[in-house]
Amino acid sequence: MVTHAFFELLKQFFSDPATNPFPLKHAPKNVHGALKKVEAGKVSLNPPVEVPPGFRGKVEYDREACIGCQMCIKVCPSQTIEFIPDGRKVKFYMSRCTFCALCTEICPKNCIRMSDTFLMANLDKDGPDMMVIDSGNWTAENKAKEPQKPEPKKAEPKKEEPKKPS
Ligand code: SF4
Ligand code: SF4
Repeated sequence: MVTHAFFELLKQFFSDPATNPFPLKHAPKNVHGALKKVEAGKVSLNPPVEVPPGFRGKVEYDREACIGCQMCIKVCPSQTIEFIPDGRKVKFYMSRCTFCALCTEICPKNCIRMSDTFLMANLDKDGPDMMVIDSGNWTAENKAKEPQKPEPKKAEPKKEEPKKPS
């Protein structure tokens, strides 16, 4: 048990960090002043660490590809998704989302996906930044990137043998 914990601790020393470092090199005396310096390009921020593969961040929704079947609404455990009868589309209230990704699995058109975006702190929980209504037509873009299948060859017509004179 102790040996396992020791090796785990040792492994952590050589692993990439999993959490973001403080965005500035040193804690500033005045945050507002420090942000002004960042805006002016006098100070640079520590970049955030990369999210791991399969990370479940803010939902993205391809509104154009959606057929309005409402399957996502049925599986969502937290009533994040609302049906818009006019146009038969949906919208997402991200303040309610539990990031379970069930909606992405059930959608027959694959038009919901989880993005890498995790910074969603907002004063207005139902404001425009916390609402997902249309994230662009990315399903069509993905299809265009897929390698085209070669067309099957057409069977050549059989040549008729010349008839022998009787
Ligand atoms: S990720 Fe889960 S909680 Fe969030 S909208 Fe989809 S089903 Fe609902
Ligand atoms: S499951 Fe997909 S296609 Fe059906 S309403 Fe939800 S987003 Fe649209």
